[in-house]
Amino acid sequence: MKVLVTGGAGYIGSHLVDHLLSRGDEVFAIDNLSTGNIANIQPHLGQNHFHFLDDTILNENLLDLLVSQVDLVYHLAAIVGVKNVVADPLAAIKTNVTGTEVVLNAAFKYWKKVVLASTSEIYGKSAKIPFHEDDDRVLGPTTVGRWSYSTSKAIDEHFAFAYAAKGLSMAIVRYFNSYGPRLDEKGYGSVVANFARQALKGEPITVHGDGLQSRCFTYIDDTVVGTVLAGEVKAGERSVFNIGSDAETTVQDLALAIKRLSGSRSDIIFVPYRAYYGEGFEDTRRRVPSIDRAREVLGFIPKVKLEEGLMRTIAWCREHYTR
Ligand code: UDP
Repeated sequence: MKVLVTGGAGYIGSHLVDHLLSRGDEVFAIDNLSTGNIANIQPHLGQNHFHFLDDTILNENLLDLLVSQVDLVYHLAAIVGVKNVVADPLAAIKTNVTGTEVVLNAAFKYWKKVVLASTSEIYGKSAKIPFHEDDDRVLGPTTVGRWSYSTSKAIDEHFAFAYAAKGLSMAIVRYFNSYGPRLDEKGYGSVVANFARQALKGEPITVHGDGLQSRCFTYIDDTVVGTVLAGEVKAGERSVFNIGSDAETTVQDLALAIKRLSGSRSDIIFVPYRAYYGEGFEDTRRRVPSIDRAREVLGFIPKVKLEEGLMRTIAWCREHYTR
C-alpha cells in the first residue's frame, strides 16, 4: 500500500511510520517539525519506500498532490499537548481546524480513506466514567483556553462525519494519554515525559494539585496498533473509537512508579496548577475509556502493562534527555 502520514515526524506519527514501513508499505510523511522531530525518522531518510516532506498541512497544493498518490491517509498532524494549546490557542485552532479541512477536502476529491487522529480531550471534564464514544461532551467556558483543543478536534470529527455522509471512507481514533519512547516533554504526553526527566536528573517530581486526578496511560505500541486497525478494518468505517488502555492510574501513583523504576532519589512535590499553566486552568479529574467498541469492531486489545511500558520509556529517556 501507499500511505500518507501527516505529522509523520511526531511522537505517534513516527512510530506509525516505523510500523507501516516494516510491513512493506510505501510511506509519505509530511511534518512541519513544529513539535515533530527529524531525529524521529532519521533512520528512514534516503530509503526507497520513504518520502519525507518538511512542510505544513496548510499547503493545499502539496496535500492535493500527496493524497492523489496514496491509497490511505493517516491524519495525525495537529498542535497537541494541553500546555502547547494553552500557550497559543490561536495556532492550535488554525492548524487543527483548517489543516484538517485541507486534508479531508483532498481525500474527498480523490476518494481516499482517512483515519483521523482525535483525542480523549473530546470528553472534556465529563464525570460519567468510563467514556463511551457516543457520550455527551462536558466542557468549560470558552474563556478557558484548554477547551479550545477539545472544540477544535470536535470540529474535525464533525467535518469527517459530514464527509462520511457524502460517502467518504473514514474512521476516527480518540487517543488516551499515549506514552513511550520519543515523548517530547514540550509536546504530547507531558506528564510522563516531565516526570521521567525530573526523576532522571534528580530534580523534584512535580505533581499538580492533589495528584489524585487519573488517566489511562497507553503505551505507544498499543496506540499504533489501534490506529492501524482503524485504517484496515472495513467494519470500522464511518465510526469513532476510543484507543487506549482502560487501566486507571492517578498522577501521584504515576510519580511513585517512575521514581521507583528509574531508581531516582528525587522528591515528589505537590505544586498548584497555576504554577505550570497560569491562572484559570481547569483539569480533567478522571479520564477512563470504554474500549468495548474498539475491541468488538476492530479487535483492539491493549497489551503493554504500565510497569513494562514505563521501563521501556525510562530506558529511552535515559539515552535522550540530556538537558
Ligand atoms: N501533570 C503533573 N505534573 C506535570 C505535568 C502534568 O501533575 O509535570 C498532570 C496534569 O496537570 C494532568 C495530568 O498530569 O492532571 C496529565 O497531564 P498531561 O499534560 O500529560 O495530559 P492531559 O491528560 O491533561 O491531556
